[in-house]
Amino acid sequence: MIVRARVVLPMSQPPIEDGAIHVSGNKILKVGRWRDLESEAGLIFDLGDAIVVPGLVNAHCHLDYTNMAGMISPPKSFSDWIKALIAIKAQWSYSEFSQSWINGAQMLLRTGTTTVADIEAVPELLPEVWDATPLRVVSLLEMISVKSRHSTAKIIAEAAGKIASLKSTKSFAGLSPHALYSTSPELLKRSAEIAQENNWLVSTHVAESREELEMFQQRSGSLFDWLKSQRDNSDCGTLSPVEQLEDQGMLRPNFLAVHANYILHSDAETLAKRESSVVHCPRSHEYFGHQKFPQKLLADAGVNICLGTDSLASVASKPKKAVALSMFLEMQQFARNNPDVSAEKILQMSTSNGARALGLAGKIGALSAGAFADLVALPFSAATDPYETVVQNRADVTASLIEGAWAISPA
Ligand SMILES: [Zn+2]
Repeated sequence: MIVRARVVLPMSQPPIEDGAIHVSGNKILKVGRWRDLESEAGLIFDLGDAIVVPGLVNAHCHLDYTNMAGMISPPKSFSDWIKALIAIKAQWSYSEFSQSWINGAQMLLRTGTTTVADIEAVPELLPEVWDATPLRVVSLLEMISVKSRHSTAKIIAEAAGKIASLKSTKSFAGLSPHALYSTSPELLKRSAEIAQENNWLVSTHVAESREELEMFQQRSGSLFDWLKSQRDNSDCGTLSPVEQLEDQGMLRPNFLAVHANYILHSDAETLAKRESSVVHCPRSHEYFGHQKFPQKLLADAGVNICLGTDSLASVASKPKKAVALSMFLEMQQFARNNPDVSAEKILQMSTSNGARALGLAGKIGALSAGAFADLVALPFSAATDPYETVVQNRADVTASLIEGAWAISPA
């Protein structure tokens, strides 16, 4: 089939006016001008005055927390937020997590995401929730060893067994040691080893808060004080969180450092050297009131930076206003905080950079021959640069194609 639109933004080449994408099966065969492709047509979907872009890649989410939207007001300290989250989780039933996950997946679909890297706190939801969404889901199984009844070996064996049991042609799973403060050096080291052996992705929350940096560098602060009775804090007092990860062998191209808000100059260089990616979540960042995201520091060092929504448990909500998971809203927040970064670069962070972070470069995140046929359409506006139109888009997408099948059919 051929999909035609007023403008196509392939991301791997300049914008194409009156563009078209030739799709065969679940892949893209060709991208070009309509007049060059029209003779090849079988079935034609003319989207008219629309901009077509690669399906967005959300590199960090917690779908199972979606229905916690508005439940936790912006906290005084990061540890207060974690405590509030733990209290809600303890009250929730399996079906509440499941409904929440599916609700979140529906929000992402409407707002242009076609691939999501999701942290799974309730891995029992898999694979049923995969079957409940057309999204490509990279499920990263959360592992926490602080306060766990189980040994590190058992925690890892359970996650590995779960990953091995999951079969899907589209979605796949990896590991997420939750964070440095909620795990141990041993858990991180073993995770890195087993992921390396099996070619799995690994994602960890890293240097998210000032309290985390204080805990690991200075053995002080509210996170250190709260955890000292629950965790062997002998790894605290010298190294930064990124230096800790480097010590445990975590930093590799298959590693996604989520947040990396409080990092040293040398940390950015280490992340770049190891080809690890950083996921920035602009609205969650705003909610916690963190210091400015070190975008320039990381970009100058050559780190691959991508964007994620995080969960709605850490997105500010206004009374009576629905809050949604949306990569467009993340791009808009990022644009407000980083006016020097072009709309094209911002869209790259939500497409090709995310693809690279997930080990899917060339397969998703760009409209190019051989890639999966993942694309979304949104209303065209003649007034502005097409990249700007996409970044500032406030409407739901008008069509979404995932692996050659319409997940949202064009009207
Ligand atoms: Zn997170």
